[in-house]
Amino acid sequence: MFIPSTVLSVAYLIAAVLFVMSLGGLSTQQTARKGNIYGMLGMLIAVVATAAQATLTGVGVQAGALVVGSVIGAVLAARVAMTAMPELVAILHSFVGLAAVLVGVSSHLHPGHPLVGAERAVHLVEIWLGVAIGALTFTGSIVAWAKLRGTVSGKPLLLPGRHLLNAVIVGSLVLGIGPYLAFDADLATGLLVGNVVIAGVLGVHLVMAIGGADMPVVVSLLNSYSGWAAAAAGFMLGNDLLIVTGALVGSSGAILSTIMCRAMNRSIWNVVFGGFGADSGAAAPAGAQAEGTITEMKVDEVAALARAAKEIVIVPGYGMAVARAQHSVNDFTRILRERGVNVRYAIHPVAGRLPGHMNVLLAEAGVPYDIVLEMEEINQDFAKTDLVLVIGANDIVNPGAETDPSSPIYGMPVLQVWNAKAVIVSKRGMSAGYAGVENPLFYHERAHMLFGDANKTMQALVGALREG
Ligand code: NDP
Repeated sequence: MFIPSTVLSVAYLIAAVLFVMSLGGLSTQQTARKGNIYGMLGMLIAVVATAAQATLTGVGVQAGALVVGSVIGAVLAARVAMTAMPELVAILHSFVGLAAVLVGVSSHLHPGHPLVGAERAVHLVEIWLGVAIGALTFTGSIVAWAKLRGTVSGKPLLLPGRHLLNAVIVGSLVLGIGPYLAFDADLATGLLVGNVVIAGVLGVHLVMAIGGADMPVVVSLLNSYSGWAAAAAGFMLGNDLLIVTGALVGSSGAILSTIMCRAMNRSIWNVVFGGFGADSGAAAPAGAQAEGTITEMKVDEVAALARAAKEIVIVPGYGMAVARAQHSVNDFTRILRERGVNVRYAIHPVAGRLPGHMNVLLAEAGVPYDIVLEMEEINQDFAKTDLVLVIGANDIVNPGAETDPSSPIYGMPVLQVWNAKAVIVSKRGMSAGYAGVENPLFYHERAHMLFGDANKTMQALVGALREG
């Protein structure tokens, strides 16, 4: 121990305050950069203070782990494409879960100092719960990662009797605590391994049962679980800062999940228990077949519409991220605004593949914050909008969510772009979005398709506007 415990407590307190300030900063785009800096400072203080407590051998091990971890993290962060960010976040959650399992198992095998009576019982319950939450987070996050990558189908796996299966697993995890406390070391170790396996199966089953359109909630829920797993590890290690940090991540993830559920008009239980009320064993309904004919427009025609418009709303979606079109979209916006056109953006809460995905891309491209509006701020304005440009979005502008009860996204509030005088949809072809549903918007009388990669299309539009 190199620093006195009072110094350590003060360092942990400062780090905890910085983490709270970081969360506060991240709540608006204008202060997000500051929020990140507070978080980094807090983490630096936490790591240095923790390392300062270790023995010389411990410092060596920590330094080695830090160097290897930092190099891998830096390389991954530098290389990751913006479109692969959700997968990276999901896999990082799995590491937190795995860490909680490893801390729990090592704490079980080498408790540090011998504990007796109530203290021992409390410690063993902490281990049992921490390992269960960790294993669930670990396997659930891996399945979420695979679903986001498309390696595993986004369709919900609705096993017959799945709710019973979940109930049996949760029941056995709860009932397992008694024997775990009572058994001698070897048998208890066997039970703990059983806990890891069973909670791991629960993680896989819970996330496999969740359908594509509900994935935003899964990502934020796993974020929350990873926080609780970290808090559990904090209890096992007796580390106050880890408990506080885990609780901050856990509760902010839970709040985000609630916000996402509200945005999708779903209850959290309905999402967590995957397709509650749907027919067992049935695949998710794909929604009604869209009818009608599509009309196509060319870049020059769209440029002429844009020149004539006074009010334009741009709706970005996942395809804008894939095409990396945000800079050309910003150029398009700037030219029109310089000509006195009122150009605004409409952001759906689940647009893209990560909460806030579109806001991050638009901020990166330099789009002014004050013209980027949330769904509820702009939805009623579409009727007085001359032109809506949907760029690589699909599910979030699907009118079937309001009119087709057989659609898996039925009930999810969507951007009512079809109320505008004209709608242009920029996408490469007629492929469905993440939820795998047909979109009747494309057949609407006031909607026209502008086919092609969104970036190339937007660059061509910018060129046509400059010429005109
Ligand atoms: P969608 O996934 O519904 O649609 C994206 C569209 O972009 C596709 O139909 C595709 O059509 C088009 N596209 C792809 N590449 C390009 C390109 N290079 N240029 C132009 N278009 C392209 O996206 P939305 O943003 O509308 O909706 C998000 C969906 O993702 C929702 O279902 C949501 O539930 C889900 N989700 C959201 C998460 C979040 O946290 N925000 C997390 C996980 C899932 P085409 O191939 O024909 O070009």
